[in-house]
Amino acid sequence: MKIIDGKAIAAELRADLKKKIEQSEEKPGLAVIIVGEDPASQIYVRNKIKACGDLGIRSYAYALPETTSQEELETLLDKLGKDRDVDGILLQLPLPKHLDSEAASKHIPFEKDVDGFSAENLGLLMQHKEEVVACTPLGVMKMLEREGIDPTGKRAVVIGRSETVGKPMAMLLLNANATVTVCHSKTPDLASVCASADILVSAVGKAKFVTADMVKEGAVVIDVGMNRDENGKLCGDVDFENVKDKTSYITPVPGGVGPMTITMLMYNTYIRFKSK
Ligand code: NAP
Repeated sequence: MKIIDGKAIAAELRADLKKKIEQSEEKPGLAVIIVGEDPASQIYVRNKIKACGDLGIRSYAYALPETTSQEELETLLDKLGKDRDVDGILLQLPLPKHLDSEAASKHIPFEKDVDGFSAENLGLLMQHKEEVVACTPLGVMKMLEREGIDPTGKRAVVIGRSETVGKPMAMLLLNANATVTVCHSKTPDLASVCASADILVSAVGKAKFVTADMVKEGAVVIDVGMNRDENGKLCGDVDFENVKDKTSYITPVPGGVGPMTITMLMYNTYIRFKSK
């Protein structure tokens, strides 16, 4: 059994990226927009801005008040869309309830979508012509690659079908030649489906959801979940202590998929910068 060190892989990828950015005369730019006071979002935004600084990416932070109107938000997105210094636009979600995130996201031009959530980027992923892919599933693929785990011919099971994690994750594994099953809350006999997986990816959002009986001997287990346990401690979806010895590779939480996500945001910003 090997515990995949997401922190170390992310650090290596960041060092590569930093070197490339240092060698470039112009620097990439990322605009990060947050609306309101959601504490978790504020931490995510702070970490993203810090990561930009560490890598030499120019960051433009917009902290808009809770009372921001849809029109004001969309006007800002339109302005950033035309700004040549801005290569990527990240609209931190969730937005306050009175705002329509889907309508707002349509004001982020495809060329500056660094989240990979736009219909165009999702379509390209479907066609296996990926340009910018959602950061978390892309981070998982980079981890597999770094560990020399080739999904070709493997049976992969993804638990979760969100637009941001589960669906793009399944499509990436399919594009990498795995045979993929996607499970969700209506899947019958989930445990036995999971137990058939050579690669099991959990993106559910429930602590200790994946138990040892759901894991095949020697499987690769990737835990995307970010939850709090009964003591308020950060944990994943997988019952790590009881599952780990059955696996060939497993990601911990924290220190697994999490550190890869922001790294992939930096990577996507660089990709957009290079292609302008
Ligand atoms: P989400 O939108 O809430 O989706 C959760 C998925 O899990 C849904 O598809 C849901 O099925 C499925 N599900 C819920 N209960 C289930 C059950 N009992 N059996 C089988 N499937 C079930 O969540 P998300 O945004 O994809 O995120 C998932 C987890 O990943 C969360 O813990 C989140 O915090 C974490 N996350 C981590 C990172 C990172 O950087 N590490 C990034 C993003 C998300 P239905 O579709 O049928 O409702």
